[in-house]
Amino acid sequence: MKGSHPMSSTTQASEVVIVGGGIYGTSLAYQLASAGRSVTLLEAGEIASGASGGPGERGVRANGRDFRELPVCALSLELWKHYQETFEGGVGYRRIGGIKVFDVPYGHREHEVRGRMEAMAAAQSSLGAPSEIWSREETLSREPELASGIIGAVHCPNDGVGDHTFATRQFAREAAKAGATIRTGAKVVEILHARGAATGVKLASGEVVPVGDKLVVVANAGAQDLLKPIFRPHEFSPVWNLMPQMLYVTNPLNKTVNHLLSHAHRRLAVKQIPDGTLMLSGGAHVAHTPDGLWKGSLSALTQNITDAIMTFPFIDSSSFLKADASRVETVAADVIPLIGQTEALSNTLYGYAWSGHGFAISLGFTKLFTDWILTGTKPEALEPFSPARFHQPAAALATSVVSRAA
Ligand SMILES: Cc1cc2nc3c(=O)[nH]c(=O)nc-3n(C[C@H](O)[C@H](O)[C@H](O)COP(=O)(O)OP(=O)(O)OC[C@H]3O[C@@H](n4cnc5c(N)ncnc54)[C@H](O)[C@@H]3O)c2cc1C
Repeated sequence: MKGSHPMSSTTQASEVVIVGGGIYGTSLAYQLASAGRSVTLLEAGEIASGASGGPGERGVRANGRDFRELPVCALSLELWKHYQETFEGGVGYRRIGGIKVFDVPYGHREHEVRGRMEAMAAAQSSLGAPSEIWSREETLSREPELASGIIGAVHCPNDGVGDHTFATRQFAREAAKAGATIRTGAKVVEILHARGAATGVKLASGEVVPVGDKLVVVANAGAQDLLKPIFRPHEFSPVWNLMPQMLYVTNPLNKTVNHLLSHAHRRLAVKQIPDGTLMLSGGAHVAHTPDGLWKGSLSALTQNITDAIMTFPFIDSSSFLKADASRVETVAADVIPLIGQTEALSNTLYGYAWSGHGFAISLGFTKLFTDWILTGTKPEALEPFSPARFHQPAAALATSVVSRAA
């Protein structure tokens, strides 16, 4: 991997220039380089210095995901397994299965909760995420430390966890082995263009990196600043920044949590990481201050820990290790990503606003980006994520409005 150098480039343009060295940029660089494309990836900081880095593991789950994302997620989970098996050293992926546990909250009807479990499992299964319902007894036999008040769980055997930092670095390493140029310390400040196509990008150092065929912006929290001058007003979709809080506690009783676990009515995710300690997340987020710092609150911390203890009572014996909420992620209004091709520049593609759950699904999306770039045709599976969803009424509705008016 090379550091950036402050000069005007005379180097030959790579066919594809990628902005962003998170899991999206590195896995896309790997797939394109393996398909024989010349690729340059530009990362402002270090590889995995954004949302794709930091301690612990990410949930790699289809369970409970927005239904529009499930077909891409199914593809992604197969690719996680594939790269875990084929990369030297794997990608830090562990397919341990995921469960969402249900109880009957105060004032709710049990038949509604059971109905929801059944509807969810059936819909997920038909959209590519095999899901089964476990009874209370089955759930407690597989996760014996759970509080006994649960009524059961929805189990997704293909779900698991992944060491996001390791995976991102592995894809960067494999991309470089496949011939991609990976540049760190290379912050892009402007997209240069002529006659309706990106021709290069300008770095903070002043250097211009030429673009051969395609420019792909997968720079997460940095994406909109770069794209704003290019977007036409109707392409612009407001996003906001989210900084999820990850808590780490000890496991003095040496108990075991076997699955990636979430709760249907509590804001909670629990994972046991390979060193045996417990990672708690899914609760309230921290504030992202304008100067780039993060600021949490005691209430957000205690709420997440209390929810964890109500789900796994043994955690009450744990000691607090640390909180980490240093990573920024962009979120869209409907909490699914924004993926498209800019209208002004026909060779510029982008993807961001993964909305707090983009790691699991990343390999599916970058496979579809790869297909798009190699064939020149946008895969239909990407259509639900077009920003047009915020600006165009559904075609059928528009027709009926026109015919009513006529
Ligand atoms: C704390 C936390 C917990 C999460 N938990 C889960 C989970 O359990 N499951 C799950 O599926 N997802 C989870 N996510 C979401 C997931 O981690 C992200 O969706 C995913 O990592 C985004 O990858 P990315 O490559 O788009 O972004 P990033 O990893 O942020 O990469 C973007 C890169 O672009 C670089 N960059 C920005 N601007 C520029 C520029 N102008 N020039 C050059 N480079 C630039 C940045 O430095 C950064 O390295 C979580 C996110 C966070 C923050």
